Amino acid sequence: MIKRKQTRALNVGGVQIGGGAPVSVQSMTTTRTHDVEGTLDQIRELAAAGCEIIRIACPTPKDAAALPDIVKGSPIPVITDIHFQSAYVFKSLEAGVAAVRVNPGNIASLSDDLPAICTQAKERGIPMRIGINAGSLDAEILQKYGGEAGADALVEAALKEAAQFERQDFYDFAISVKHHDPLVMIEAYQKLSARGDWPLHLGVTEAGPEFQGTIKSATAFGVLLHQGIGDTIRVSLSADPVQEVRVGLEILRSLGLKKRELEIISCPTCGRVEADVIELAQRVEAALEGRAELKQRTLRVAVMGCVVNGPGEARAADIGVAGGRDKGIIFVKGEVVETVDNEQIIPVLLRYIDQILAE
Ligand code: SF4
Repeated sequence: MIKRKQTRALNVGGVQIGGGAPVSVQSMTTTRTHDVEGTLDQIRELAAAGCEIIRIACPTPKDAAALPDIVKGSPIPVITDIHFQSAYVFKSLEAGVAAVRVNPGNIASLSDDLPAICTQAKERGIPMRIGINAGSLDAEILQKYGGEAGADALVEAALKEAAQFERQDFYDFAISVKHHDPLVMIEAYQKLSARGDWPLHLGVTEAGPEFQGTIKSATAFGVLLHQGIGDTIRVSLSADPVQEVRVGLEILRSLGLKKRELEIISCPTCGRVEADVIELAQRVEAALEGRAELKQRTLRVAVMGCVVNGPGEARAADIGVAGGRDKGIIFVKGEVVETVDNEQIIPVLLRYIDQILAE
């Protein structure tokens, strides 16, 4: 069991972040925000994949004008992502977003506007995120650290900004200190976590294409979450954002921080293999994905490559299949219950799974 660090609680449009709440999964839309229907379609797709909070960019007046409709139509809380102009922070607050992320490193007017931002955010009960990024660090701090946006520079920037908000008597914010290098990112979050009880939003920024970004995020989030650090996560991938959500959820499930619904236990195959395990595992996964009953319970389904060793090796599974040359076997808790022709494996497996789920 992971012992989570106790942080302040934020209410982001009904989803609690920090204060012992489950770690939530966020993503970001890739549509033009002013394309309201396109943006809402993508938000619905991400919500269906398990995304709990969505962030949208707001770089132009047209995007700001679209915010009220997006907030109204979104099935999950909407956070706006503001760079360069604090005018869009005010537009976001007026639109009733669930939270606003500001990047203090590139909003020149932020300090001047901070009293008004904090007053309005407080009046409306809208939290903020101070999003520090290695790529857009406060120029003064960057200079102090010789142009190197390392962990200490990120933490100093975060502490400086947090103090500015707190001077306005505003405490309703989360912080992120993102870096593309997982080692720097881990160190930055560890150091920041030691300095206060702000809820932390974890992210490896610009983590890269799907495979590399997945590994970098899983490595960094795994270390931090295992140490109890992190209240909400966003996996950043140069890929379909649905993948970001799937990866985020899988990281949380792997750490026991989210209930696993369907677990496929499949063997890596070896010289004894008799079936196409990759194809069989994909077919089993596709046949079971989205089953409503799996919201209530965890189902472990084994897909093994040979009939001799498969059932024994996958004894921990609720049910499994082991492929043979022409015939496969279905087993329940390691005991063979039926031998079937290969083309009948999926329908027969599903019949047994229906029985298990009905129990
Ligand atoms: Fe090899 Fe069979 Fe074990 Fe798969 S189940 S790893 S094919 S022995």
